[in-house]
Amino acid sequence: MSRGLPPGVVAALFLAAALAPLSLAALSGEPPEALPREAGIGLGLAGLALMLLQFGHSGRFETYSGRIGIDRTMRLHRAAALALVAMALLHPVAFVSPALLSAPAHGLELLWRLLARPRMATGVAALLCLCLVVALPLMRHRLGLPYPAWRALHAALGLAAVALAVEHALSVGLYSEAGPLKGFWLAGFGLAVCALVWSWGIKPWLAARQGWRVAGVRRIGEEYWELTLRRPSPEPFAFAAGQFAWLAVGRRAPWNDNPFSIASAPGERDLAFVVHEAGDFTRSLGDIAVNTPVRVDGPHGAFRLEEGEQRAILLIAGGAGIAPVLAIWRHLARTGHVAPVRLVYGAQSAGKLLYREELAATAAARGFGLTLKVEEGDLPEGATRGRIDRATLIEALRGLDARRTLALICGPRPMMLAVAAELEALGLPPSAILYETFVYA
Ligand SMILES: Cc1cc2nc3c(=O)[nH]c(=O)nc-3n(C[C@H](O)[C@H](O)[C@H](O)COP(=O)(O)OP(=O)(O)OC[C@H]3O[C@@H](n4cnc5c(N)ncnc54)[C@H](O)[C@@H]3O)c2cc1C
Repeated sequence: MSRGLPPGVVAALFLAAALAPLSLAALSGEPPEALPREAGIGLGLAGLALMLLQFGHSGRFETYSGRIGIDRTMRLHRAAALALVAMALLHPVAFVSPALLSAPAHGLELLWRLLARPRMATGVAALLCLCLVVALPLMRHRLGLPYPAWRALHAALGLAAVALAVEHALSVGLYSEAGPLKGFWLAGFGLAVCALVWSWGIKPWLAARQGWRVAGVRRIGEEYWELTLRRPSPEPFAFAAGQFAWLAVGRRAPWNDNPFSIASAPGERDLAFVVHEAGDFTRSLGDIAVNTPVRVDGPHGAFRLEEGEQRAILLIAGGAGIAPVLAIWRHLARTGHVAPVRLVYGAQSAGKLLYREELAATAAARGFGLTLKVEEGDLPEGATRGRIDRATLIEALRGLDARRTLALICGPRPMMLAVAAELEALGLPPSAILYETFVYA
Protein backbone atom coordinates (compact mmCIF):
# COMPACT_ATOMS: atom_id res chain seq x y z
CA MET A 1 0.00 0.00 0.00
CA SER A 2 1.70 3.21 -1.15
CA ARG A 3 1.75 6.05 1.38
CA GLY A 4 2.84 8.74 -1.06
CA LEU A 5 5.55 11.37 -0.93
CA PRO A 6 5.63 13.94 1.90
CA PRO A 7 3.84 17.20 0.95
CA GLY A 8 7.13 19.19 1.02
CA VAL A 9 8.73 16.82 -1.49
CA VAL A 10 5.63 16.96 -3.76
CA ALA A 11 5.75 20.79 -3.67
CA ALA A 12 9.52 20.84 -4.40
CA LEU A 13 9.17 18.39 -7.33
CA PHE A 14 6.24 20.38 -8.69
CA LEU A 15 8.20 23.64 -8.57
CA ALA A 16 11.33 22.04 -10.03
CA ALA A 17 9.37 20.55 -12.97
CA ALA A 18 7.53 23.83 -13.58
CA LEU A 19 10.74 25.87 -13.57
CA ALA A 20 12.94 23.34 -15.41
CA PRO A 21 12.24 24.70 -18.92
CA LEU A 22 13.15 28.23 -17.82
CA SER A 23 16.47 26.95 -16.45
CA LEU A 24 17.14 24.94 -19.63
CA ALA A 25 16.39 28.04 -21.74
CA ALA A 26 18.71 30.15 -19.56
CA LEU A 27 21.48 27.57 -19.99
CA SER A 28 20.97 27.22 -23.75
CA GLY A 29 23.63 29.82 -24.59
CA GLU A 30 21.23 31.81 -26.81
CA PRO A 31 21.84 35.58 -26.51
CA PRO A 32 19.05 37.22 -24.48
CA GLU A 33 16.24 38.90 -26.39
CA ALA A 34 14.50 42.20 -25.55
CA LEU A 35 12.59 42.10 -22.25
CA PRO A 36 9.01 41.86 -23.69
CA ARG A 37 10.06 38.93 -25.90
CA GLU A 38 11.87 37.22 -23.01
CA ALA A 39 8.75 37.71 -20.83
CA GLY A 40 6.52 36.28 -23.57
CA ILE A 41 8.79 33.28 -24.05
CA GLY A 42 9.08 32.72 -20.28
CA LEU A 43 5.29 32.74 -19.86
CA GLY A 44 4.97 30.25 -22.70
CA LEU A 45 7.62 27.90 -21.30
CA ALA A 46 6.28 27.93 -17.71
CA GLY A 47 2.68 27.63 -18.93
CA LEU A 48 3.50 24.58 -21.06
CA ALA A 49 5.38 22.94 -18.18
CA LEU A 50 2.32 23.43 -15.94
CA MET A 51 0.11 21.93 -18.66
CA LEU A 52 2.21 18.78 -18.76
CA LEU A 53 2.18 18.54 -14.96
CA GLN A 54 -1.64 18.58 -14.94
CA PHE A 55 -1.61 14.97 -16.18
CA GLY A 56 0.19 13.92 -12.99
CA HIS A 57 -2.27 15.37 -10.51
CA SER A 58 -5.41 13.65 -11.60
CA GLY A 59 -5.84 12.00 -8.20
CA ARG A 60 -4.97 8.54 -9.57
CA PHE A 61 -1.32 8.46 -8.51
CA GLU A 62 -0.89 7.56 -4.86
CA THR A 63 2.81 8.47 -4.92
CA TYR A 64 1.71 11.99 -5.67
CA SER A 65 -1.55 12.40 -3.73
CA GLY A 66 -1.24 9.64 -1.10
CA ARG A 67 -0.39 12.09 1.67
CA ILE A 68 -1.91 15.35 0.51
CA GLY A 69 -5.26 13.69 -0.30
CA ILE A 70 -7.47 13.89 -3.35
CA ASP A 71 -9.20 17.12 -2.30
CA ARG A 72 -5.93 19.08 -2.14
CA THR A 73 -4.71 17.37 -5.32
CA MET A 74 -7.82 18.55 -7.16
CA ARG A 75 -7.54 22.05 -5.72
CA LEU A 76 -3.95 22.23 -6.94
CA HIS A 77 -5.12 20.93 -10.33
CA ARG A 78 -7.67 23.76 -10.58
CA ALA A 79 -5.33 26.48 -9.29
CA ALA A 80 -2.62 25.36 -11.74
CA ALA A 81 -5.21 25.32 -14.56
CA LEU A 82 -6.16 28.95 -13.91
CA ALA A 83 -2.50 29.98 -13.62
CA LEU A 84 -1.49 28.27 -16.85
CA VAL A 85 -4.44 29.67 -18.83
CA ALA A 86 -3.49 33.17 -17.62
CA MET A 87 0.12 32.51 -18.72
CA ALA A 88 -1.01 31.15 -22.10
CA LEU A 89 -3.21 34.21 -22.71
CA LEU A 90 -0.45 36.63 -21.69
CA HIS A 91 2.17 34.73 -23.73
CA PRO A 92 1.37 36.40 -27.12
CA VAL A 93 0.32 39.67 -25.47
CA ALA A 94 3.78 40.13 -23.92
CA PHE A 95 5.43 40.18 -27.38
CA VAL A 96 3.42 43.24 -28.43
CA SER A 97 3.20 44.83 -24.96
CA PRO A 98 5.34 47.91 -25.79
CA ALA A 99 3.01 48.77 -28.70
CA LEU A 100 -0.09 47.97 -26.59
CA LEU A 101 1.09 50.36 -23.90
CA SER A 102 2.11 53.22 -26.20
CA ALA A 103 -0.62 52.95 -28.90
CA PRO A 104 -3.28 50.38 -27.85
CA ALA A 105 -5.09 50.29 -31.24
CA HIS A 106 -1.83 49.64 -33.09
CA GLY A 107 -0.84 47.10 -30.42
CA LEU A 108 -4.10 45.18 -30.92
CA GLU A 109 -3.55 45.17 -34.66
CA LEU A 110 -0.05 43.77 -34.16
CA LEU A 111 -1.45 41.12 -31.82
CA TRP A 112 -4.07 40.15 -34.38
CA ARG A 113 -1.43 39.93 -37.14
CA LEU A 114 0.79 37.84 -34.89
CA LEU A 115 -2.01 35.38 -34.11
CA ALA A 116 -3.16 35.23 -37.73
CA ARG A 117 0.22 34.04 -39.03
CA PRO A 118 -0.12 30.49 -40.44
CA ARG A 119 2.81 29.24 -38.36
CA MET A 120 0.95 30.31 -35.20
CA ALA A 121 -2.07 28.10 -36.01
CA THR A 122 -1.18 25.29 -33.59
CA GLY A 123 -0.49 27.79 -30.80
CA VAL A 124 -3.86 29.50 -31.32
CA ALA A 125 -5.64 26.12 -31.47
CA ALA A 126 -3.93 25.08 -28.21
CA LEU A 127 -5.14 28.32 -26.61
CA LEU A 128 -8.73 27.66 -27.74
CA CYS A 129 -8.64 24.08 -26.39
CA LEU A 130 -7.29 25.37 -23.07
CA CYS A 131 -10.05 27.97 -22.76
CA LEU A 132 -12.62 25.24 -23.45
CA VAL A 133 -11.07 22.95 -20.80
CA VAL A 134 -11.44 25.69 -18.20
CA ALA A 135 -14.87 26.89 -19.31
CA LEU A 136 -16.50 23.44 -19.58
CA PRO A 137 -16.83 22.74 -15.83
CA LEU A 138 -18.62 26.08 -15.46
CA MET A 139 -21.02 25.28 -18.32
CA ARG A 140 -21.46 21.56 -17.61
CA HIS A 141 -24.79 21.85 -15.83
CA ARG A 142 -26.22 24.35 -18.33
CA LEU A 143 -25.23 22.07 -21.22
CA GLY A 144 -26.72 19.07 -19.40
CA LEU A 145 -23.45 17.20 -19.85
CA PRO A 146 -23.32 14.02 -17.69
CA TYR A 147 -20.31 13.81 -15.36
CA PRO A 148 -18.60 10.87 -17.20
CA ALA A 149 -19.02 12.58 -20.60
CA TRP A 150 -17.50 15.72 -19.13
CA ARG A 151 -14.53 13.75 -17.76
CA ALA A 152 -13.84 12.15 -21.17
CA LEU A 153 -14.12 15.52 -22.93
CA HIS A 154 -11.91 17.17 -20.32
CA ALA A 155 -9.11 14.67 -20.89
CA ALA A 156 -9.47 14.71 -24.70
CA LEU A 157 -9.33 18.52 -24.85
CA GLY A 158 -6.44 18.60 -22.37
CA LEU A 159 -4.45 16.14 -24.45
CA ALA A 160 -5.23 18.03 -27.66
CA ALA A 161 -4.16 21.31 -26.02
CA VAL A 162 -0.86 19.90 -24.83
CA ALA A 163 -0.09 18.17 -28.16
CA LEU A 164 -0.78 21.40 -30.08
CA ALA A 165 1.22 23.49 -27.59
CA VAL A 166 4.23 21.16 -27.80
CA GLU A 167 4.08 21.30 -31.61
CA HIS A 168 3.89 25.11 -31.39
CA ALA A 169 6.90 25.26 -29.04
CA LEU A 170 8.98 22.96 -31.25
CA SER A 171 8.11 24.72 -34.49
CA VAL A 172 8.30 28.41 -33.49
CA GLY A 173 9.92 28.39 -30.04
CA LEU A 174 13.26 30.16 -29.93
CA TYR A 175 14.75 28.00 -27.15
CA SER A 176 12.66 24.88 -27.80
CA GLU A 177 13.65 24.20 -31.41
CA ALA A 178 16.70 22.17 -30.48
CA GLY A 179 18.82 20.87 -27.65
CA PRO A 180 17.80 19.87 -24.13
CA LEU A 181 14.54 21.83 -24.13
CA LYS A 182 13.30 19.96 -27.20
CA GLY A 183 14.07 16.70 -25.37
CA PHE A 184 12.29 18.01 -22.27
CA TRP A 185 9.07 18.77 -24.20
CA LEU A 186 9.10 15.44 -26.03
CA ALA A 187 9.76 13.51 -22.80
CA GLY A 188 7.09 15.54 -20.95
CA PHE A 189 4.53 14.88 -23.68
CA GLY A 190 5.43 11.18 -23.64
CA LEU A 191 4.92 11.06 -19.86
CA ALA A 192 1.56 12.86 -20.15
CA VAL A 193 0.38 10.29 -22.70
CA CYS A 194 1.71 7.47 -20.47
CA ALA A 195 -0.20 8.93 -17.47
CA LEU A 196 -3.43 8.80 -19.46
CA VAL A 197 -2.76 5.33 -20.89
CA TRP A 198 -1.93 4.08 -17.40
CA SER A 199 -5.03 5.59 -15.76
CA TRP A 200 -7.54 4.77 -18.47
CA GLY A 201 -5.97 1.74 -20.14
CA ILE A 202 -3.62 -0.38 -18.07
CA LYS A 203 -5.09 0.27 -14.61
CA PRO A 204 -8.70 -0.58 -15.60
CA TRP A 205 -7.43 -3.72 -17.35
CA LEU A 206 -5.49 -4.79 -14.22
CA ALA A 207 -8.50 -3.94 -12.04
CA ALA A 208 -10.81 -6.06 -14.21
CA ARG A 209 -8.45 -9.03 -13.81
CA GLN A 210 -8.93 -9.00 -10.03
CA GLY A 211 -12.41 -10.42 -10.60
CA TRP A 212 -14.42 -8.29 -8.17
CA ARG A 213 -18.17 -8.94 -8.40
CA VAL A 214 -21.25 -7.60 -6.69
CA ALA A 215 -22.03 -9.88 -3.73
CA GLY A 216 -25.05 -7.92 -2.54
CA VAL A 217 -27.00 -4.67 -2.79
CA ARG A 218 -29.48 -3.75 -0.09
CA ARG A 219 -31.39 -0.69 0.93
CA ILE A 220 -30.23 0.45 4.35
CA GLY A 221 -32.13 3.71 4.76
CA GLU A 222 -34.00 6.48 2.99
CA GLU A 223 -31.87 7.24 -0.14
CA TYR A 224 -29.09 4.91 1.10
CA TRP A 225 -27.75 1.60 -0.21
CA GLU A 226 -25.11 -0.83 0.90
CA LEU A 227 -23.04 -2.37 -1.87
CA THR A 228 -20.91 -5.42 -1.08
CA LEU A 229 -18.16 -6.72 -3.35
CA ARG A 230 -16.23 -9.97 -3.35
CA ARG A 231 -13.34 -11.33 -5.44
CA PRO A 232 -12.19 -14.91 -5.97
CA SER A 233 -8.98 -14.42 -3.99
CA PRO A 234 -9.59 -15.01 -0.25
CA GLU A 235 -6.79 -12.48 0.41
CA PRO A 236 -8.35 -9.39 2.04
CA PHE A 237 -8.01 -6.15 0.06
CA ALA A 238 -5.15 -4.13 1.60
CA PHE A 239 -6.21 -0.63 2.68
CA ALA A 240 -6.18 1.63 5.71
CA ALA A 241 -9.50 2.34 7.47
CA GLY A 242 -10.92 5.58 6.03
CA GLN A 243 -9.61 5.23 2.46
CA PHE A 244 -11.70 5.09 -0.71
CA ALA A 245 -11.69 3.29 -4.07
CA TRP A 246 -12.87 4.15 -7.59
CA LEU A 247 -15.60 1.72 -8.62
CA ALA A 248 -16.76 0.95 -12.16
CA VAL A 249 -19.82 -1.26 -11.74
CA GLY A 250 -20.59 -3.29 -14.88
CA ARG A 251 -18.64 -2.98 -18.09
CA ARG A 252 -18.20 0.76 -18.08
CA ALA A 253 -15.77 3.00 -19.92
CA PRO A 254 -12.52 3.79 -18.05
CA TRP A 255 -13.61 7.40 -17.46
CA ASN A 256 -16.93 6.28 -16.02
CA ASP A 257 -16.03 5.27 -12.48
CA ASN A 258 -17.02 6.81 -9.16
CA PRO A 259 -15.16 7.27 -5.90
CA PHE A 260 -16.64 5.66 -2.78
CA SER A 261 -15.19 5.30 0.71
CA ILE A 262 -14.75 1.75 1.93
CA ALA A 263 -17.09 1.18 4.86
CA SER A 264 -15.90 -2.31 5.85
CA ALA A 265 -12.90 -2.75 8.13
CA PRO A 266 -9.47 -3.73 6.78
CA GLY A 267 -9.00 -7.50 6.99
CA GLU A 268 -12.63 -8.35 6.18
CA ARG A 269 -13.10 -10.64 3.18
CA ASP A 270 -15.72 -8.48 1.41
CA LEU A 271 -15.55 -4.79 0.63
CA ALA A 272 -18.65 -2.84 1.71
CA PHE A 273 -19.71 0.63 0.56
CA VAL A 274 -22.44 2.95 1.81
CA VAL A 275 -23.93 4.80 -1.14
CA HIS A 276 -26.17 7.85 -1.03
CA GLU A 277 -28.45 8.51 -4.02
CA ALA A 278 -26.91 11.58 -5.61
CA GLY A 279 -27.22 11.15 -9.38
CA ASP A 280 -27.71 8.79 -12.32
CA PHE A 281 -25.54 5.92 -11.14
CA THR A 282 -26.22 6.06 -7.41
CA ARG A 283 -30.00 6.24 -7.99
CA SER A 284 -29.93 3.09 -10.10
CA LEU A 285 -28.04 0.99 -7.57
CA GLY A 286 -31.14 -1.09 -6.77
CA ASP A 287 -31.14 -2.39 -10.38
CA ILE A 288 -27.66 -3.90 -10.13
CA ALA A 289 -27.67 -7.69 -10.23
CA VAL A 290 -25.60 -9.87 -7.94
CA ASN A 291 -22.48 -11.13 -9.76
CA THR A 292 -22.12 -7.99 -11.89
CA PRO A 293 -18.38 -7.45 -12.51
CA VAL A 294 -16.81 -4.41 -10.84
CA ARG A 295 -13.46 -2.75 -11.41
CA VAL A 296 -11.91 -1.57 -8.14
CA ASP A 297 -9.11 1.01 -8.32
CA GLY A 298 -7.69 1.68 -4.91
CA PRO A 299 -7.03 2.19 -2.15
CA HIS A 300 -6.70 5.96 -2.35
CA GLY A 301 -6.86 8.85 0.08
CA ALA A 302 -5.15 10.53 3.00
CA PHE A 303 -8.19 10.26 5.32
CA ARG A 304 -6.90 7.23 7.13
CA LEU A 305 -6.00 5.87 10.48
CA GLU A 306 -2.29 5.15 10.79
CA GLU A 307 -1.03 1.83 12.17
CA GLY A 308 -0.20 2.10 15.87
CA GLU A 309 -2.25 5.24 16.51
CA GLN A 310 -2.26 5.79 20.30
CA ARG A 311 -4.32 8.98 20.71
CA ALA A 312 -7.98 9.19 21.71
CA ILE A 313 -10.15 9.13 18.58
CA LEU A 314 -13.08 11.45 17.98
CA LEU A 315 -15.07 10.46 14.89
CA ILE A 316 -17.59 12.90 13.45
CA ALA A 317 -19.90 11.95 10.60
CA GLY A 318 -22.74 13.72 8.84
CA GLY A 319 -25.01 11.99 6.28
CA ALA A 320 -23.10 9.83 3.77
CA GLY A 321 -19.93 10.79 5.65
CA ILE A 322 -20.65 7.80 7.89
CA ALA A 323 -19.04 5.54 5.22
CA PRO A 324 -15.31 6.05 5.94
CA VAL A 325 -16.03 6.77 9.61
CA LEU A 326 -17.78 3.41 9.90
CA ALA A 327 -14.68 1.67 8.52
CA ILE A 328 -12.56 3.35 11.19
CA TRP A 329 -15.09 2.56 13.95
CA ARG A 330 -15.26 -1.09 12.85
CA HIS A 331 -11.47 -1.29 12.63
CA LEU A 332 -11.04 0.15 16.13
CA ALA A 333 -13.64 -2.28 17.46
CA ARG A 334 -11.84 -5.23 15.82
CA THR A 335 -8.36 -4.24 16.97
CA GLY A 336 -9.26 -2.89 20.42
CA HIS A 337 -7.97 0.68 20.56
CA VAL A 338 -6.19 1.45 23.84
CA ALA A 339 -7.37 5.09 24.13
CA PRO A 340 -11.01 6.27 24.22
CA VAL A 341 -13.04 6.20 20.99
CA ARG A 342 -16.08 8.44 20.50
CA LEU A 343 -18.43 8.88 17.58
CA VAL A 344 -20.75 11.79 16.90
CA TYR A 345 -23.07 11.02 14.00
CA GLY A 346 -25.73 13.35 12.67
CA ALA A 347 -28.43 12.71 10.06
CA GLN A 348 -31.30 14.69 8.64
CA SER A 349 -33.96 12.20 9.74
CA ALA A 350 -34.34 8.87 11.52
CA GLY A 351 -34.61 7.06 8.16
CA LYS A 352 -31.16 8.36 7.21
CA LEU A 353 -29.46 7.41 10.47
CA LEU A 354 -27.75 4.20 9.37
CA TYR A 355 -26.43 1.14 11.23
CA ARG A 356 -28.01 2.27 14.54
CA GLU A 357 -28.15 -1.20 16.04
CA GLU A 358 -24.60 -2.09 15.06
CA LEU A 359 -23.24 1.19 16.41
CA ALA A 360 -25.09 0.82 19.72
CA ALA A 361 -23.96 -2.81 20.10
CA THR A 362 -20.30 -1.94 19.43
CA ALA A 363 -20.47 1.05 21.80
CA ALA A 364 -21.85 -1.18 24.56
CA ALA A 365 -19.42 -4.04 23.93
CA ARG A 366 -16.29 -1.90 23.55
CA GLY A 367 -17.10 1.03 25.84
CA PHE A 368 -16.95 3.46 22.90
CA GLY A 369 -18.84 6.76 23.20
CA LEU A 370 -21.78 7.25 20.83
CA THR A 371 -23.77 10.45 20.22
CA LEU A 372 -26.54 10.37 17.62
CA LYS A 373 -28.20 13.55 16.36
CA VAL A 374 -31.30 13.83 14.20
CA GLU A 375 -32.42 17.13 12.70
CA GLU A 376 -36.12 16.54 11.97
CA GLY A 377 -39.00 14.06 12.18
CA ASP A 378 -39.15 11.05 14.49
CA LEU A 379 -36.51 10.78 17.18
CA PRO A 380 -35.11 7.23 17.32
CA GLU A 381 -34.06 5.68 20.61
CA GLY A 382 -30.70 6.95 21.80
CA ALA A 383 -30.67 10.04 19.52
CA THR A 384 -31.12 13.70 20.43
CA ARG A 385 -32.57 16.51 18.35
CA GLY A 386 -30.43 19.04 16.46
CA ARG A 387 -27.19 19.46 14.59
CA ILE A 388 -23.63 18.74 15.67
CA ASP A 389 -22.85 22.01 17.46
CA ARG A 390 -20.34 23.33 19.98
CA ALA A 391 -22.23 21.84 22.94
CA THR A 392 -22.23 18.39 21.28
CA LEU A 393 -18.47 18.60 20.72
CA ILE A 394 -17.73 19.78 24.28
CA GLU A 395 -19.74 16.81 25.54
CA ALA A 396 -17.96 14.41 23.17
CA LEU A 397 -14.56 15.64 24.32
CA ARG A 398 -15.44 15.46 28.04
CA GLY A 399 -12.60 13.84 30.00
CA LEU A 400 -10.25 13.75 26.98
CA ASP A 401 -7.01 15.69 26.60
CA ALA A 402 -7.74 17.76 23.47
CA ARG A 403 -4.01 17.95 22.64
CA ARG A 404 -3.84 14.14 22.57
CA THR A 405 -6.99 13.57 20.53
CA LEU A 406 -7.24 12.84 16.81
CA ALA A 407 -10.46 13.99 15.12
CA LEU A 408 -11.63 12.54 11.81
CA ILE A 409 -14.55 14.36 10.18
CA CYS A 410 -16.58 13.41 7.11
CA GLY A 411 -19.81 15.01 5.97
CA PRO A 412 -21.17 18.02 4.09
CA ARG A 413 -18.53 20.71 3.63
CA PRO A 414 -20.24 23.46 5.72
CA MET A 415 -20.62 21.01 8.60
CA MET A 416 -16.96 19.96 8.36
CA LEU A 417 -15.73 23.57 8.31
CA ALA A 418 -17.88 24.49 11.34
CA VAL A 419 -16.85 21.39 13.30
CA ALA A 420 -13.14 21.83 12.47
CA ALA A 421 -13.26 25.47 13.64
CA GLU A 422 -14.96 24.47 16.91
CA LEU A 423 -12.50 21.65 17.54
CA GLU A 424 -9.57 24.00 17.01
CA ALA A 425 -11.14 26.47 19.43
CA LEU A 426 -11.54 23.60 21.91
CA GLY A 427 -7.80 22.94 21.81
CA LEU A 428 -7.19 20.29 19.12
CA PRO A 429 -4.06 21.01 17.07
CA PRO A 430 -4.97 21.66 13.39
CA SER A 431 -2.71 18.77 12.36
CA ALA A 432 -4.90 16.44 14.49
CA ILE A 433 -8.06 17.29 12.54
CA LEU A 434 -8.47 15.20 9.38
CA TYR A 435 -11.36 15.46 6.97
CA GLU A 436 -12.65 13.85 3.79
CA THR A 437 -14.83 15.72 1.32
CA PHE A 438 -17.07 13.94 -1.18
CA VAL A 439 -17.31 16.92 -3.54
CA TYR A 440 -14.36 18.51 -5.36
CA ALA A 441 -16.08 21.66 -6.52
C1 LIG B 1 -13.12 10.70 -2.08
C2 LIG B 1 -14.62 10.52 -2.25
C3 LIG B 1 -15.28 9.55 -1.51
C4 LIG B 1 -16.67 9.40 -1.66
N1 LIG B 1 -17.30 8.46 -0.90
C5 LIG B 1 -18.63 8.32 -0.97
C6 LIG B 1 -19.32 7.36 -0.18
O1 LIG B 1 -18.73 6.60 0.59
N2 LIG B 1 -20.66 7.29 -0.29
C7 LIG B 1 -21.38 8.10 -1.14
O2 LIG B 1 -22.60 8.00 -1.19
N3 LIG B 1 -20.75 9.02 -1.92
C8 LIG B 1 -19.40 9.14 -1.87
N4 LIG B 1 -18.77 10.06 -2.67
C9 LIG B 1 -19.56 10.84 -3.62
C10 LIG B 1 -19.86 9.97 -4.84
O3 LIG B 1 -18.65 9.68 -5.54
C11 LIG B 1 -20.81 10.69 -5.81
O4 LIG B 1 -22.00 10.98 -5.13
C12 LIG B 1 -21.12 9.78 -6.97
O5 LIG B 1 -19.96 9.60 -7.75
C13 LIG B 1 -22.24 10.37 -7.81
O6 LIG B 1 -22.40 9.58 -8.98
P1 LIG B 1 -23.74 9.60 -9.84
O7 LIG B 1 -23.46 9.02 -11.18
O8 LIG B 1 -24.85 8.99 -9.08
O9 LIG B 1 -24.06 11.11 -9.93
P2 LIG B 1 -23.87 12.13 -11.12
O10 LIG B 1 -25.20 12.63 -11.52
O11 LIG B 1 -22.98 11.60 -12.18
O12 LIG B 1 -23.07 13.25 -10.35
C14 LIG B 1 -23.54 13.94 -9.20
C15 LIG B 1 -22.32 14.64 -8.61
O13 LIG B 1 -21.47 13.65 -8.01
C16 LIG B 1 -20.11 13.97 -8.26
N5 LIG B 1 -19.50 12.92 -9.08
C17 LIG B 1 -20.09 12.16 -10.01
N6 LIG B 1 -19.23 11.32 -10.58
C18 LIG B 1 -18.05 11.57 -9.98
C19 LIG B 1 -16.75 11.06 -10.14
N7 LIG B 1 -16.49 10.10 -11.03
N8 LIG B 1 -15.76 11.57 -9.38
C20 LIG B 1 -16.01 12.52 -8.49
N9 LIG B 1 -17.21 13.06 -8.28
C21 LIG B 1 -18.22 12.58 -9.02
C22 LIG B 1 -20.08 15.29 -9.01
O14 LIG B 1 -19.95 16.34 -8.09
C23 LIG B 1 -21.43 15.33 -9.64
O15 LIG B 1 -21.86 16.63 -9.94
C24 LIG B 1 -17.38 10.22 -2.55
C25 LIG B 1 -16.71 11.17 -3.31
C26 LIG B 1 -15.35 11.33 -3.17
C27 LIG B 1 -14.64 12.37 -3.99
